[in-house]
Amino acid sequence: MTELYPWLQPPFNQLLALTNSGQLAHALVLCGPAGIGKATMADALAAVLLCKNRQPAGACGQCKSCMLRQAGNHADLLKLHSDTQHIGVDAIRQLNNFSHGAAQQHGNRVVVIPAADTMTEAAANALLKTLEEPPAGCFIILVSSNYPQLSATIRSRCQQWQLHAGNAADIAQWLSQQTNKSPPAFLVEYCQGAPLKALSLLADDTATSLSDTLTLLDEYFSGKLQLTNVVKQLDGKAELSGMLGFYIRQRLAQPLEFLRQQAVLTAYQRWCRDATRIIGQNSALALTGLLTELKSLLQHPEAKWKS
Ligand SMILES: [Zn+2]
Repeated sequence: MTELYPWLQPPFNQLLALTNSGQLAHALVLCGPAGIGKATMADALAAVLLCKNRQPAGACGQCKSCMLRQAGNHADLLKLHSDTQHIGVDAIRQLNNFSHGAAQQHGNRVVVIPAADTMTEAAANALLKTLEEPPAGCFIILVSSNYPQLSATIRSRCQQWQLHAGNAADIAQWLSQQTNKSPPAFLVEYCQGAPLKALSLLADDTATSLSDTLTLLDEYFSGKLQLTNVVKQLDGKAELSGMLGFYIRQRLAQPLEFLRQQAVLTAYQRWCRDATRIIGQNSALALTGLLTELKSLLQHPEAKWKS
């Protein structure tokens, strides 16, 4: 048994109890922000479902079924690949064949669909039939960081398990235990309460760079730092679009009235879109444009959206 992250233990215990009483839903979706531990949870649940010698705490880790799974070699476990941008209809056809076949180890069969929200429409349609009439002993675990993006018909046929890591103070405490220092105040909120994402940002020191970005933005919008200077320092920073989005939503837009909020968010979304669509775009120029527009929206509230 590998130990689960502390915040995963309560939902895992519930899933285990449902499995033991034969009441586990045949299709469920594990959701929550990236870095909450959805994949870990999917693995732990698959282990429980496949283990031949289930223990009070979960899978035994020692039976033939557990050994095969740990070696990545269990014929009754199918994990779809998440390394492509979309899950296509071919992958779902493979899933359908798998789920209707016989179990090799005379037990359950488990399918894990990572990033299920990236299924194409055709793939989602192909999955529906299996979800509607799930073969006996087959469990389908969908994983999604973007639950609303899953089609409504898929959502309606899967039991939803929303994973949480507790309040910000608990998460900050867990992070300080892992790193032996207190995380910066913005970090947990920036990571939408996902401790593993926060931990990885601390581990490779991206968190420090994000902290600098926040300070620079504060200095620019409070008039302490000139535009050319702030652009020079911000351009090319790690996770710039993520941090700008966070800053705009949490710091700039929140105190504004609705229309101005919309104008501020629209300016940001346009900048994000251009960054991905315009090949060879001058990033410093684009950033200058965005920061100028934001400041003018903040300073001259009448100017932009009445036209
Ligand atoms: Zn076992």
